[in-house]
Amino acid sequence: MTRAERERDLRDRLIHAGHLIPLPTRGLATFTSDVEAVVRGVDGLVRTMEPVAGVVEIGVPPFLPEVEFVRTGYLRSFPHLLGSVDVFTGSPRDHRALMADVEAGNPWTERLSPAHLDLLSAPCHSAYPLHQGQSLHTPRVYDIHSRCWRHEPSDDPMRLMSFRMREKVLIGSAEQASAHRESGLGHGPRLLSDLGLPVSRVVANDPFFGRMARLMAEGQRDDELKFEFICDVYGGDDGGVALGSANYHQDHFGGDFDITGPDGGPAHSACIGFGLERIALALFAVHGMDTGRWPTAVRDGLRLGP
Ligand code: ATP
Ligand code: ZN
Repeated sequence: MTRAERERDLRDRLIHAGHLIPLPTRGLATFTSDVEAVVRGVDGLVRTMEPVAGVVEIGVPPFLPEVEFVRTGYLRSFPHLLGSVDVFTGSPRDHRALMADVEAGNPWTERLSPAHLDLLSAPCHSAYPLHQGQSLHTPRVYDIHSRCWRHEPSDDPMRLMSFRMREKVLIGSAEQASAHRESGLGHGPRLLSDLGLPVSRVVANDPFFGRMARLMAEGQRDDELKFEFICDVYGGDDGGVALGSANYHQDHFGGDFDITGPDGGPAHSACIGFGLERIALALFAVHGMDTGRWPTAVRDGLRLGP
């Protein structure tokens, strides 16, 4: 089987077991009770992983105001992945015209206006704007869970357009950010291997867009800024699947949001992120479709009950 066939095979097995209800749009899926219970279990493990003094859990919307979104640099580097929100702000007459278009089967979305909100692509992007223009005397650590959006339609059940991620983010000095990333490189793979997921840690790069993509990716790899926790879910020699990542951003976000770190220089940051559906589905791929037959230690770790 090719990699694409193995991806569709996992998707078919999840559908057959009643865990995944396919939706007509590629990259969107509805999951049922067993997957949701596993997602909750994984989320709980990530939330309580490596408790750091002073960590603040924040609940954030799945959008960023446009100005903040542009500041993150996402538009510059990953325009192919973004999504934004349109709203209706017209009069009753405009509404009648819109409904006439809908009923005639005509395009109607151009009758909407931009809300100047962009869908969140990584939870950590919500943390930097909280400190825009500030001088931090101590590092800030956030635990953030959110639904994320990336426009990467696919038949692979592990590559969704809308998925959940939990991240641990530190904003502080270069030394503090590096130490945070270093600690995630230890705790992240351990959390996954304790669930019976064999992972290896590899240097990685983000999927940059356009002519500069190769150069940017090579720079990121040379400086070892991004590591992924890879699991060989699909077998074969065409690479594993990233279940999580540990990223050191240097002063990228500190510079964009004008944040000064405890050492007086531009703040540095690092984040450790886990894809919750990805990890849940990797568990189904590795341990089988029946959670009742998973190893007791794994069921206990995920608090799946007796
Ligand atoms: P990939 O290399 O697979 O494209 P990534 O490098 O873009 O992943 P990160 O930005 O590091 O991913 O995001 C952290 C985690 O979020 C990933 O390790 C993965 O578990 C999860 N994730 C990322 N993209 C998706 C997606 N499209 N669908 C489901 N989970 C995802
Ligand atoms: Zn992040």
